[in-house]
Amino acid sequence: DYEADPADNTNINVVVRVRPLNSKEVKTGDEMITHFPGNGQIWLEPVTPKEKPKTFTYNVVFEPEASQEDVLNHSGVKRLIDMAIDGFSCTVFCYGQTGSGKTHTLTGPPHLFEKNPDPFASEHGLVFRSFLYLFDQIQNRNDFHFVLKASFLEIYNEKVIDLLNTSRKPLAVRWSKKSRGFFVENLFMVECEEFDDLLAVLEEGMRNRAVGRHNMNEYSSRSHTILTVHITSEQKASEQGVFISRHGKLNFVDLAGSEMTKKTHSEGKTLEEANNINKSLMVLGYCIASLSDLKKKSGHIPYRDSKLTKLLADSLAGNGVTLMIACISPAKSNMSETLNTLRYAARAKRI
Ligand code: ADP
Ligand code: MG
Repeated sequence: DYEADPADNTNINVVVRVRPLNSKEVKTGDEMITHFPGNGQIWLEPVTPKEKPKTFTYNVVFEPEASQEDVLNHSGVKRLIDMAIDGFSCTVFCYGQTGSGKTHTLTGPPHLFEKNPDPFASEHGLVFRSFLYLFDQIQNRNDFHFVLKASFLEIYNEKVIDLLNTSRKPLAVRWSKKSRGFFVENLFMVECEEFDDLLAVLEEGMRNRAVGRHNMNEYSSRSHTILTVHITSEQKASEQGVFISRHGKLNFVDLAGSEMTKKTHSEGKTLEEANNINKSLMVLGYCIASLSDLKKKSGHIPYRDSKLTKLLADSLAGNGVTLMIACISPAKSNMSETLNTLRYAARAKRI
C-alpha cells in the first residue's frame, strides 16, 4: 500500500517512482537492483559484495507495478490541489535521469496527444488526473466563484518559450511589485471554463514541444516545461461585507534530465558557463540545499540565479508547497544515476 504519511505537513513532500525494466534492459539481461521493504523505504543491492546495501526513506515509494491512478491517489498531490484552490502556490516536479519516467508520470505516453486521443486511457498521467480532480473540487464549492487560467512554457538554455504560441520567440522574466513575484511577460494565459479547456492547453503545449524537438538532439532531456493553472477565487457572500479574494497557483514541472547536473560539474564549468548546459537544474539543487540549511540559519537562497527557480520561488518558500517525484530506473546499469537521484531527493526531504 502507498498511503502517504498524513502527519507530514512540511513544505516539501518527496516520493519516489520506480519504472519497470524496459524491453532493452530485459533483452540484455540487466538486473533489477531495487527492493521495497515498505514504509516509504527503498534499498539498492550493492554492486560489489564489499559494499553495504543502501537504504533510503521517503514519504512514499511507488513500485514498478504502480498505476497512474495510484500516483494520483497516494502521492499527496490532492492535498496540493486543495491548497492551490485555497490560494497557495503549489508545485509538482519530476526529477530524474532521461528515460526514468518523468514525462510518463506527468503526461503519459506521447501517443495520447496525437490524433483522436482516447480520453479514458489508463496511461493518462498526473496532469490529466489532477485537472479532473480540480474541476470536481471546484464544482462542489458554492461559497466561491472561480476563474481558472492556464499557461504552458518551456525553458531551454535559460530562454523562456511559450508553448502556446508557435512563434517560439524568447520571453522576458520580470519582477512584479504588485504581486511581489516573478512573472513571464507576454505569456499566453488561456481562460479555462471547463476540463476540456485545460486539456486543450495540455495537448497544444505537448504538440508544440514535440515540434521544437525536431531541430535538435537531446532537446527534451535539456529542457524544462512548466504548466501552470492560475486559480483566482472570489467569495460570493459575506456577512461582514468584506469579500475574500484569493490567487492560487498549481505548477506541473517536467525537469531536464538530472544527468545534466553532473555533466556540468564534471566538466568543471563555472556557473556562468553552465548557462549553456543547464543552469536551472543546478540552481534548483542549490535552492533546495540552502532551504534544508535554513534551519541552521546559514541563509541566502539563490532563487534569482535561474529562470526556473525565479518562476518557482513562491512555492519553494514562504506559503508554498512542493511535491517532488523522483523518478528512477530499477536497472543495475543505471545504478550511479539512480543513487544521485535518491540522494538529491533525500536532501530535499530534510527541509
Ligand atoms: P523521461 O521523461 O524521464 O526522459 P519517459 O517518461 O519518456 O522518461 O520514459 C521513458 C520510457 O519509459 C517511455 O517509453 C515510457 O513510456 C516508459 N515508462 C516510463 N515510466 C513508466 C512506467 N511507470 N510504466 C510503464 N512505462 C514507463
Ligand atoms: Mg521526458
